[in-house]
Amino acid sequence: MNLKPAEISSVIKEEIKLYSAKLDVTEAGTVIQVGDGIARIYGLSRAMSGELLEFDNGTFGMALNLEEDNIGAVLLGSDVGIKEGDSVNLTGRVVEVPVGDAMIGRVVNALGQPIDQKGPIESTAFRPIERVAPGVITREEVNVPLQTGIKAIDAMVPIGRGQRELIIGDRQTGKTAVCLDTIINQKGKDVLCIYVAIGQKASTVARVAKTLEDYGAMDYTTVVVASAAETAPLQFIAPYSGCAIGEEWMENGKDVLIVYDDLTRHAVAYRAMSLLLRRPPGREAYPGDVFYLHSRLLERSARLSEKYGGGSITALPIIETQAGDISAYIPTNVISITDGQIYMETELFNAGIRPAINPGLSVSRVGGSAQIKAMKKTAGPIRVELAQYRELAAFAQFGSDLDKDTLERLKQGERIVEVLKQPQFKPLTVEQEVVILYAVTHKYLTDINVEKSLEFENELLKYIETKHPEIFIELREKGDLGEELKKNLQNVMEQFKKEIKI
Ligand code: ATP
Ligand code: MG
Repeated sequence: MNLKPAEISSVIKEEIKLYSAKLDVTEAGTVIQVGDGIARIYGLSRAMSGELLEFDNGTFGMALNLEEDNIGAVLLGSDVGIKEGDSVNLTGRVVEVPVGDAMIGRVVNALGQPIDQKGPIESTAFRPIERVAPGVITREEVNVPLQTGIKAIDAMVPIGRGQRELIIGDRQTGKTAVCLDTIINQKGKDVLCIYVAIGQKASTVARVAKTLEDYGAMDYTTVVVASAAETAPLQFIAPYSGCAIGEEWMENGKDVLIVYDDLTRHAVAYRAMSLLLRRPPGREAYPGDVFYLHSRLLERSARLSEKYGGGSITALPIIETQAGDISAYIPTNVISITDGQIYMETELFNAGIRPAINPGLSVSRVGGSAQIKAMKKTAGPIRVELAQYRELAAFAQFGSDLDKDTLERLKQGERIVEVLKQPQFKPLTVEQEVVILYAVTHKYLTDINVEKSLEFENELLKYIETKHPEIFIELREKGDLGEELKKNLQNVMEQFKKEIKI
């Protein structure tokens, strides 16, 4: 053989040049136990918490329990077809969802995959579903209103962009209805909406999606669904996926509204998952970190300062209570995380007061600074008058001869209650709200039969729209109710009462 030392040394030199000190760390694990959507895997000592794992048959899982000699993972698909001894690979990625404008108008599952038969989602951007919430420095005060179009809310518990307002109440009290109306009211207001359905019946979600479609709200809305039929892990990640979709828009300077319907079921799914992973149960069998479960989700709603894009995520989480008990574990947790709550009551709902908002127990801790001036001036006395009315009404049941002042307050209270009623899918503009609230607080309805209040409202709004549109225009443009406009409004109302007999 003819050896050429020069050639050999050059080959060796070349090899050394190309040698990289990187070790191939792809490491396969082995399934040692699988069932109920949970797998225990031996090996994979380098797995990250929350890392996406790939099983032999293509199913994905998420590593959650990192223990000494094995890891506990939840399956993001069916466990059928996975058996003991199957190999599992690390992917080096955490769970991600597609984000961006391609998501608008789509119905997707918890992994961001389309389930609406409108074809694949053409998105090039992805985001991890879990992320650290924006810090203190990047945030701005909440001071831009998010109009819900619901009189009772915009007047008494105003919501600002970037706020987290809890909707809490028993089953069938109109919680979902309030959120849907709010989404429908965002039409043309430059707010992108996300509705996350967790643990609900698939038929209910289909109805919600259809309603949004019918009212033209799918032009700016994404629906994320993990229905009751889906596994606990998917229900667990759904709100984080929805939030990740919103974050992409927020960081691009857009305003986002996200509804989590509902977090009670989310907590229940997490409890099921944690118990199967053999995490120690605590109060009501929830794991110890159930507070963190919701706080790290809701803290991601924020209003960013101009420097960081200036976008916002407003969150409306929903909690279902049992027999009105707002002091149970999960309700108190979420009440303490949010910036206020809207409490919906069965008694009010059944008495025909819909939306069934209890003004005594509902608060908005930051939204007041987001109200437009005209609304603030007009709606100010409503809460007090309503509270006085309730006190008097309870008292007046017993006495028959009431003095004039009490009778007047009762009369006024009845009319306020009546005016705050609102049918579903009829959101009002803020100008319309101001006008009707002005009418009731300035006693223009006192001599009207209570039952005719709704008719009065409709006629008044129609009258102003056709004969004095300048009132609405000025309210919209200035956002304030100056002396001159007030005079004009008073004159118009007098005139209206003379012309229209109700
Ligand atoms: P669940 O606990 O089942 O999720 P929920 O609290 O979300 O119920 P909704 O489904 O929103 O309640 O409403 C219950 C029913 O009340 C629905 O049939 C809805 O149409 C009706 N409803 C809600 N709000 C109003 C309203 N303002 N006026 C009239 N009907 C309403
Ligand atoms: Mg509901």
